[in-house]
Amino acid sequence: MSELTELILDRIRDVPDYPKPGVLFKDITPLLADPVAMAAVVDALAGLSQVDKIVGIEARGFILAAPVAYRAAAGFVPVRKKGKLPAETLKESYDLEYGSATIEVHRDAFTPGDRVLIVDDVLATGGTAKATVELVERAGAEVVGIAVLMELAFLKGRERLPGVELHSLVIV
Ligand code: IMP
Repeated sequence: MSELTELILDRIRDVPDYPKPGVLFKDITPLLADPVAMAAVVDALAGLSQVDKIVGIEARGFILAAPVAYRAAAGFVPVRKKGKLPAETLKESYDLEYGSATIEVHRDAFTPGDRVLIVDDVLATGGTAKATVELVERAGAEVVGIAVLMELAFLKGRERLPGVELHSLVIV
């Protein structure tokens, strides 16, 4: 196991029955509070691909994506939950276990052909990541990859993202 993998596993806390009974939530706040672990994670994510823009997915994705964008000398673009972005947006809806969710990006967030890396904290079922890929492509950019801190392999999110380069710093 690499030093980075060990560091990440040590700083992500399991919280049982959150946000509802039966779910084991991966809490990244101990990692965020450790400057050494945070720097190692940001450096690892920033070194993955040469890109023009880093997309962060609300809300925990923002915390990682913004310093990654700075480190990679790329622009930062937020993908937000419905109704939060002020200017004209593109929208993408996707199914949740119960109901659905809608995410948005500003219509003019990208220059045509921009190379984009999508960053989030945890990949679970892959629904959020898949919708984000579709949104970014519809906005005229090229998705060169998705990068997450942790992939929950048992939920098979990777299978919902065929043809997309998926980088997971840790797979559990
Ligand atoms: P998915 O759409 O099922 O892949 O869920 C991924 C989204 O839900 C990401 O934006 C994550 O931030 C969030 N998420 C799902 N499970 C967890 C978890 O255990 N810890 C932190 N975030 C999670």
